[in-house]
Amino acid sequence: MQERFLGIDIGSTTVKVVLADMDGQIVAHRYLRSNGQPRTMLISALRGLAAAADMGRVTSVGLTGSGGEAIASVIGCRHVNELVAQTRAVGTRHPTARTVIEIGGQDSKLLILDWDAAVGRMRLVDFAMNSLCAAGTGSFLDQQAERLGIDIEDAFARIALQSTSAARIAGRCTVFAKSDMIHLQQKGTLLPDILAGLCLALARNFTSVVAKGKVFTPPILFQGGVAYNLAVVRAFETVLGLGQGELIVPAQHEVMAALGAALIAGDDAAFGRRISLIGLDRLEHDLIVSQQSDRHMPALRHPRPARPAPIVAPAADTAPTPVYLGIDVGSMSTNIVLIDAAGQVVARRYMLTAGNPLDAVRRGLAEIGQEVSGRIAVIGVGTTGSGRHLTADFVGGDIVRNEIAAQARAAVAIDPTVETIFEIGGQDSKYIRINHGAVVDFAMNNACAAGTGSFLEEQADRLNISIKHDFSRLALAAERPACLGERCTVFMESDVVHHQQQGASLETLTGGLAYAVAQNYLNRVVNGRPIGERIFFQGGVAWNSATVSAFESLTGRHITVPPHHDVTGAIGAALLAKEELSERRAQGDPAPTHFRGFDLTDLHYETNTFECRACPNLCAVNKVVIANEPPIFYGALCDKFEDVGRRHPHAHGLPDLFAERHRLLMGEYVAPEGRRNGRVRVGIPQMLLFYDMFPYWRAFIESLGMDVVISDATNPTIVSRSLEHSTAETCFPAKLAYGHILNLLDKDVDLVLLPSVMNRDHIPHGQRESNYCPYIPAISYMVAAQIDLQKRPWRPVLGALRFMDPRFKQFDLGQIATQLGVSPKAIRGADLAGAAAQEGFYAAVCERGRAALAHLRPGQPAAVIVGHPYNTHDLRVCQDLPFKLRKLGVLPIPIDYLPLDTVDISAHFPEMYWRSGHDILAAATIIRDDPRLHAIYVTNFGCGPDSFLVSYFQKLLGAQPFLELELDEHSADAGVITRCEAFFDSLRMRPQAVSIAVGEV
Ligand code: SF4
Ligand code: SF4
Repeated sequence: MQERFLGIDIGSTTVKVVLADMDGQIVAHRYLRSNGQPRTMLISALRGLAAAADMGRVTSVGLTGSGGEAIASVIGCRHVNELVAQTRAVGTRHPTARTVIEIGGQDSKLLILDWDAAVGRMRLVDFAMNSLCAAGTGSFLDQQAERLGIDIEDAFARIALQSTSAARIAGRCTVFAKSDMIHLQQKGTLLPDILAGLCLALARNFTSVVAKGKVFTPPILFQGGVAYNLAVVRAFETVLGLGQGELIVPAQHEVMAALGAALIAGDDAAFGRRISLIGLDRLEHDLIVSQQSDRHMPALRHPRPARPAPIVAPAADTAPTPVYLGIDVGSMSTNIVLIDAAGQVVARRYMLTAGNPLDAVRRGLAEIGQEVSGRIAVIGVGTTGSGRHLTADFVGGDIVRNEIAAQARAAVAIDPTVETIFEIGGQDSKYIRINHGAVVDFAMNNACAAGTGSFLEEQADRLNISIKHDFSRLALAAERPACLGERCTVFMESDVVHHQQQGASLETLTGGLAYAVAQNYLNRVVNGRPIGERIFFQGGVAWNSATVSAFESLTGRHITVPPHHDVTGAIGAALLAKEELSERRAQGDPAPTHFRGFDLTDLHYETNTFECRACPNLCAVNKVVIANEPPIFYGALCDKFEDVGRRHPHAHGLPDLFAERHRLLMGEYVAPEGRRNGRVRVGIPQMLLFYDMFPYWRAFIESLGMDVVISDATNPTIVSRSLEHSTAETCFPAKLAYGHILNLLDKDVDLVLLPSVMNRDHIPHGQRESNYCPYIPAISYMVAAQIDLQKRPWRPVLGALRFMDPRFKQFDLGQIATQLGVSPKAIRGADLAGAAAQEGFYAAVCERGRAALAHLRPGQPAAVIVGHPYNTHDLRVCQDLPFKLRKLGVLPIPIDYLPLDTVDISAHFPEMYWRSGHDILAAATIIRDDPRLHAIYVTNFGCGPDSFLVSYFQKLLGAQPFLELELDEHSADAGVITRCEAFFDSLRMRPQAVSIAVGEV
């Protein structure tokens, strides 16, 4: 009788069991989703296996998987590492494979393999696994499919494969990718393009975050549950540039780790180490004895019931009631309300956006129109939410306002004494502080906390319970809610998985999740800001009484869930429309509504996404055509399409000071066309100090009779190459060095200038130092280590460069002279030429700054863009903030247009070591003392110096508010615009506002 071996693989979301023989043939297998109960599902899987095959022949058992260790001790068998198990299985089934991509529910792995002919076994040469932050790629696909109402097993791939122009979606972490997808939906991007973009993002995510530059040698096996998805398979082929047959999805790829565990059990048996399977009944008993975590939160109490939400239906027998229509289009829900002249809700709809905002609006309007047919007359329309502009164009909106203004307006209408609003929706959350009815501070969730509402739903799905009917009931029954921490949703998800594997009950987990969402919100969104006594909890999540209770427990205050809390954004939009139109009408402007009516069934619209290739920005532009009207374009980083589409009246007439400064920076520079008379070509990457010191380096190199060749402006290709190659988690501008340096490879250069500039020569008044952030000098070495510069067709010019001390400077320039192959005399001349050009640039910037400030009209909204030069002048890094502001009618001013050199900050900061730090703080004092100026501080996720400079900046500004934008490669356009709009709105509402608005976008 041939022996059989049992392999068990307990993953984060699935349980796999395999019965195999020693040749690696699978006799029977089972693959089950664990639905939050891995132990129960293991029993079920084993019972299924027992029904299909003779378990009596099992002579040994092997166990693997992230959740396997706890169970191994119960069964009494050896837990083997998943990588080892995978290698064993691949060696038996696919010995020619050299690379394995494995994407499961929660984990991703890359295995680099080689066949060891000496021992006749596959050898694991190298491997990489996802970090916690990229966790859940497989379950992420499930969640998105669920959210969009698409069957992951079948429809997802089929729809994605219809795409002809995949949308661009951030890839590093699933939460960011999800945010991008939602913004694309709001812009009307086609579903196949979004799904295909998501698949590409997953593939890029894997190559950059997991593989981090490791080489994928074919044949490549693609394994794990996600390998079923043919659209992801195609995405990997595209991203890796693979030919036919180089990427193989093996049969039964989803159980390869379990097979490996079975084969290793067989190996053990061959050496007499047999682990026989204990009886299933005994196993069941042992497994179900759950282990409780010691750390827990206090039990939740039932909160007070929410106030009733009255609806005042319009009378049927009188003249139609004049009403205002408010529409709030969010990522998860689309809300529509009608309010009468007294602000009472006449009708309302809460619809799921389901990935198609315009369809949701159309359905909602049709329903509500039928409900109030003939009894109302719409006299104004306001739209809000992330899809507000598109919706206004579609329905004929009269005013478009951001979500902060809308939520606040509704809350104040319900209760003028409200002080604090917590708002948690499907994807976004907000904190708003109100003083006497006006917004004085706000904050929005950063990308890492995104999706708190959808996170709860996803977790409920994972636990196989209804968010509506079960979640709060279970959570409020928990005696010891789990302590899941307050980290970003992805971490929380991992924690939940861990607790499940430890056998935590549904009550314990749901109670823990309610706390986790509230803690996450309080720590990451509220982040130490004041919380008043009168707190409103708005948004869809306020339905969840367990979360309300968690907030009450954590804040020690009563939380009010106001009437119509789930549609307050729409109510606010309607109220704002009412106020603005009433005011205009009171001034004699008839201000007729543009509303197209409730029945938009025949209103034809078309959306398509294309990539504009007119410049290296390669914008993903969405074109929307409604009826036969001129098309509307979203997503362009310039006004290229405004001649054919809708124009933005504000942008015209405002000078573009950023373009002007760029012209000053570039001077007379023209890129040389090809090689000229054998002149040496020196590459300069457009990164970091380029945005300040290009005049110096250009004059320096040109005075040596060499040509200057610069890398392209930061574009999507440079960004993705940067992310693929950067191994260290630096700030985004430092990461971009990789892409820019690689970009120079395509430009036929002989040398690439990569000196490590440590400091600057102009020491500010009252200071002793003028240093650059350590990433700036270090990045050359980091890039050199990662992409082996010495082996490239050009030579890097490396070495320290200390401008601050003349003796060091001469020594350092001497080292550079040697690398450039020029004499010390020539290098001194080059330095003089460079210094003169740099002085000329500073003088010109100063001069233009003076003129711009002199012409600034009082009342003209103006914002100084504060930050390090590569943050504020690399338009890709700052999301073309200057263009966005000009569209809003705000004049953006470069920080160095201010007379920074005239300011001495030493009274407050006598030891300001950083050069940029001095400039940023000098700017604060100038902005504080000039009522015409406001500040937008652009910073980066992970910026060390800014972690304290921002608070110094705030201290110097005193009572003056400023907007902090934390940007990086994941920032979304819509988030930047909403924050800017909300900031200038709040300034208008309350000029003496006293705090800051902050958030990564
Ligand atoms: S910035 Fe303008 S021209 Fe350049 S790709 Fe974008 S839309 Fe096209
Ligand atoms: S100062 Fe901040 S943004 Fe600039 S290089 Fe250093 S860490 Fe990056």
